[in-house]
Amino acid sequence: MRTRLIVTSVGLLALVLGAVFLAVYTSTDVSANRQAQRQLQVGSNVFSNLLEARARELTSATQILVADFGFRQAVATGDLPTIRSALLNQVQRIGADQAMFFDAQGVLRISSVNRPTAKAVEVQALQPFSDQAMMAMIDQRPYLLVQAVVRAPVPVGQVAMAFSLDEALAREMQKLTGLEIRFVSSRDDNVMSSFSTSPYAQNDMDLHEGTQTLEGEGYLTTVISLLDQQPYKVAAQLASPLSETLASFDVLKRELLIITLVALVASSLLAVRFSSSLARPVALLAEAAMRIGRGDYTGQVRLARSDELGLLAERIDAMRSGIAEREELIAHNALHDPLTGLPNVSVLREQLRASLVSGQRGVLAQCNLVTADLMLKARGQDFMDTLIRQSVASLEGQLPADSLLAWQPGVGFLLLLDRRELDEAVVVIDAMLARLGEKLQVDDIKLSSQWLAGVVAWPLHGGDPHELLRQASIALADAAPGPERIAVYQAQRDQAYQRRIRLARDLRYAPQHKELTAVFQPKLDLASGEVRQVEALMRWNHSELGAISPDEFITLAEQTGSIGMLTQWMMAAVLSQLRSWIDRGIHLQVAMNISARDLDDPEFPQRIERMLHAQQISPDYLSLEVTESAVMRDPERSLQSLRILRDLGIALAVDDYGTGYSSLAMLKSLPVQDLKIDKSFVLQLTEGSDDAVIVKSTIELAHNMGLKVIAEGIENVQSLNWLKERHCDVAQGYFISRPLAVPDLERWIEQTRGTFGVGERV
Ligand code: C2E
Ligand code: CA
Ligand code: CA
Repeated sequence: MRTRLIVTSVGLLALVLGAVFLAVYTSTDVSANRQAQRQLQVGSNVFSNLLEARARELTSATQILVADFGFRQAVATGDLPTIRSALLNQVQRIGADQAMFFDAQGVLRISSVNRPTAKAVEVQALQPFSDQAMMAMIDQRPYLLVQAVVRAPVPVGQVAMAFSLDEALAREMQKLTGLEIRFVSSRDDNVMSSFSTSPYAQNDMDLHEGTQTLEGEGYLTTVISLLDQQPYKVAAQLASPLSETLASFDVLKRELLIITLVALVASSLLAVRFSSSLARPVALLAEAAMRIGRGDYTGQVRLARSDELGLLAERIDAMRSGIAEREELIAHNALHDPLTGLPNVSVLREQLRASLVSGQRGVLAQCNLVTADLMLKARGQDFMDTLIRQSVASLEGQLPADSLLAWQPGVGFLLLLDRRELDEAVVVIDAMLARLGEKLQVDDIKLSSQWLAGVVAWPLHGGDPHELLRQASIALADAAPGPERIAVYQAQRDQAYQRRIRLARDLRYAPQHKELTAVFQPKLDLASGEVRQVEALMRWNHSELGAISPDEFITLAEQTGSIGMLTQWMMAAVLSQLRSWIDRGIHLQVAMNISARDLDDPEFPQRIERMLHAQQISPDYLSLEVTESAVMRDPERSLQSLRILRDLGIALAVDDYGTGYSSLAMLKSLPVQDLKIDKSFVLQLTEGSDDAVIVKSTIELAHNMGLKVIAEGIENVQSLNWLKERHCDVAQGYFISRPLAVPDLERWIEQTRGTFGVGERV
C-alpha cells in the first residue's frame, strides 16, 4: 500500500508539475511572440519617424541652400562650379547621398555625384512621402528626395537632395530600431534591388507580413510600403528576430525547469513521508483487526489523529468492545440458565467433578416444587417463571458463600455444598426449603409453595458426577411434604428403582416373548365339597430376572398403563383354556381378575362379549373379580360397565373385600353375586379374634343381601372348618391347593375328587 501510495502521489505530482511546466513554457512562447510583436510595432513607428526626421533634415538643408544668397547668385549667374561645391558642401553636411541642380527648364545641370554623362540621370518614379519629401526611383534605385525652387526672385532653377535607401541607411535604422531592416525595390514584382541588415534575404522578394523562419531563425516581420507606382514598388521590411526575445525567456524556462525539478523532488519526498504516515496507522489498524480476529480483545485500538483514520480506529475499537461484550454474554449464556440467571447444570457438574478429583467430601441436593405440574396447568408458564424468579430472589444472601446454587429447567434447584458433612448440609438445605416455602406475591396471588429435596453425599454414595446427580433425583422421589421433605439417598431404593424401570420396560414385551403364563387356583364349594370354579392368576417368568411376583408387576402395569394389555392377554388365555376344557367335558367356571382401568375402558364389555362369542363360550363360564377399591374409584362408570357385563351373564365378584372403605350397603347397589373376603382376615382366623368377628358378621350380612361369600387365604384345616361351620360358600387357599399349571390342576382335580366331601371333617 505504501509503495502504491508513493507511486500514485509522485506520479500525480509529476503530472501536475509537467502540466504547469508545459503551460508556462508555451505561455512564454506566446509572450515572446507578443513581445516581438510589440518590438516590431515600436520599431516600425521608430522607423517611420526616423525616415520623416530624415526627410525634415533633408528639407531644411535644401531650404537653407536655396535661401542662401551666394547660391542664388551662383544660380543666377550660372556659375556651375560654385553650385557644385555648394551642393557637395550641403551633401556632406547632412550626409545625403545626392544633390542635383536643375535649371529653369528642368534640365539637370549638375549633380553631386560624378557621372559620365548628365543624361544618365533618370527619375523613374516619384511619390510624395511627407509634406516636402518624396520617394523616388532614380536610376533603378530608391531614394528619399526633397526639392526646392531657387528664386532670384523669379524661379531660376531647382535643387533636389536625396538619401539612398541603401544598406547604410538600413544599418543605421537597425541600430536605432533594434529591428532587421530590408529595403526592397521592384519593378513588375521583380526585385531590382534589396538592401538588408541581416544576411537572410538579400534576394528574397517575399514581402508578406507575419512569422517567418529563415535559415533556421524565426522572425516576426512587417512591411511598410514606401512607394507604389506602377510598375515600381519600394517597401521596407522590418523583422524582429524571435530568437532574441525567446532567448530572454530561456533563462526563465531554465529556472522554471529547475524549480519544477526541485518541486518534484521535494514533493516526492513529502509524498513518501505522507504515505508512510498513512501506511503506518493502516498497518497498526490491520494488526489490531488481526488481534481481534484471534479473540484478543484487551488492547485498546487508538490513533492519535482526528482524520478518517482516527475515526476508523475509533470504530474498530467500538467493534472490539462490542464483540468482547457479546462474547462474554455468549459465554455467560453457555454457563447460565436464562430464566434464573443462576449457573446451569454444566457448571455444577464441573465443580462437582473438581471436588471429587480433589478428594473432598461434599453434599448435593436437588430441590423441586411439589405441585409444579398442577400449577403450570392452572396458571401457565409465565406465572411459573415469575414464581421461580421470585424464589431465586428470596434465596439471595441466604446460602453459605462457598455453596453453588444452580438451576436446571425441568429438574429444579441443584445445591452443591462442598466440604460438608451430611448432617450439617441437611440443616442448610432445610433452611433453604423453609425460605423457599415462605409466602410470595406472584402477580396478583399470594402463595406459599412447598419444596422437596433429595440429598446425596460423596464419597459416601458415589464418586461420579453423573451418578450423584441421578442419585439425588432418586432420593427426591422419596421425599414427601411434611417432616420428610428432605430425603437422603438410599442405595437399596436405587436398586428397587432400577428394577422397576427395567420391569416396566420389559413387561410390554412379555407377551411376545412368551414369558407370561396363567395358573389356576381351585375354589372349593363348601356345601357340595366339589371344585366347580378356579381363579386364573398370571405368572411372569422374566428371561433374566426369573419369576416376578404378580403383586410387583401387576401394580407396575397398573401404574404404567400396561394393564389393559395384560388383561387382554389373560382373557385370551382363559377363554382358549375354557374352550379346550369344555371340549374335553371339564366344566369349570374360571374367575379372572380385572383392574380399575379395565372398568374405565368403555369398550371393555363389548370386547369380552366378542371374544366369548368367537370362542362359542357361554358367559356363565366366566367370572370377573374386581376389587372394591377399583369399583370405588369411579363408582358411576364402573357401575355402568359392571351392569353390561352382568347383563351379558358374566358372574361378578368383589375381591379383597374389607381392605377398602366401602360398606356392605354400598355393595348392595352393585350387580355382583359374590363377595370375596380378603385373605388378610382369613390367614390367622382363630376363634374369638377380631378377624373372626368380622368374617362371621360379613358372611351373615352378605347372605342377607343375597350374596355368596368366598373366603381366600385358607392355609389350615381349622380355618376351613371354621368357615364351613359359619356357612361360608366357597373356600380358596393353599390348604386346598396352590395355584397350579393346567396339567397339574387337571391331575389335582382327578386325584382329590371327594376328598373335601360334604359334612366331612378333613
Ligand atoms: P388376588 O386376586 O387376591 O389373588 C389371590 C392371591 O392370593 C394370589 O396371589 C394367590 O396365590 C394368593 N393365595 C391364595 N391362597 C393363599 C393362601 O392360602 N395363603 C396365601 N398367603 N396366599 C394365597 P398371586 O397369584 O400372587 O396374585 C396376587 C395378586 O395379583 C392377586 O390378588 C391379583 O390381585 C393380582 N393378579 C394376579 N393375576 C392377575 C391377573 O391376571 N389380572 C389382574 N388384574 N390381577 C392379577
Ligand atoms: Ca382375585
Ligand atoms: Ca383377593
